[in-house]
Amino acid sequence: MRIPIAAGNWKMNKTVAEASAYAEALLQELDTPGVEVIICPPFTSLYALSQKFAGSSVKLGAQNMHWELKGAFTGEISGSMLLELGCEYVILGHSERRHIFRETAEEVGKKVETALKLGLRPILCVGETLEERERGETEAILAYQLEKGIEGITTFPNVESIVIAYEPVWAIGTGKAATPQDAQEAIAFVRGKLSEQFGSEKAQQIRILYGGSVSPENVGQFVNQEDIDGTLVGGASLDAGKFLDIIKETA
Ligand code: PEP
Repeated sequence: MRIPIAAGNWKMNKTVAEASAYAEALLQELDTPGVEVIICPPFTSLYALSQKFAGSSVKLGAQNMHWELKGAFTGEISGSMLLELGCEYVILGHSERRHIFRETAEEVGKKVETALKLGLRPILCVGETLEERERGETEAILAYQLEKGIEGITTFPNVESIVIAYEPVWAIGTGKAATPQDAQEAIAFVRGKLSEQFGSEKAQQIRILYGGSVSPENVGQFVNQEDIDGTLVGGASLDAGKFLDIIKETA
């Protein structure tokens, strides 16, 4: 049984004061056993939220990290720093990191390896651009990003603690979500690749999320699909009320 996930990626939004007010609103209404709720705020709010969420079921995730443990990497954050702040998860390879900040698939793979080695659970994002989809390259792109992303962890005993997020780039922040059928098809393909790599027992345990313009209105159609184990939500997670509705629909 894979426990479904509702994960909120706040991107570069909310001050510490705003994040704290959101956490209070969320905790006041949150009563949804059976769904793992993960909030991924900017680094600056991680400490405050770890205090707010202490003793609750809400998990904390970061949006990025460096693959090295420490050193001369100005502006970067290490995995052990995230663990110290109470993070259980870290989003890696988000399309904004790959496309705006030019992160390569190899770099993402190094981050996944370090995260898992440290006991942080990576949420590895993969997804094709519109041009790649139109050229019929979706599966090739997913296979490549996945292969490089998990290259360093194939022999790890805890691979099942990784989460994959299928996020077609053209659906992120556009209001134009994938159809549930297209998302299911892509995610079933990803699970097949995980099965080739880790064996079917492990592949059946790994949670795979859909992300891209998820809303309270459309989330039900995604989580009802056989291989979709929840969602990674950007815009709609910024509003505590909307995110609570998404959590309820995920249960
Ligand atoms: C995301 O940031 O991962 C995302 C899917 O954004 P949105 O829900 O706004 O499309």
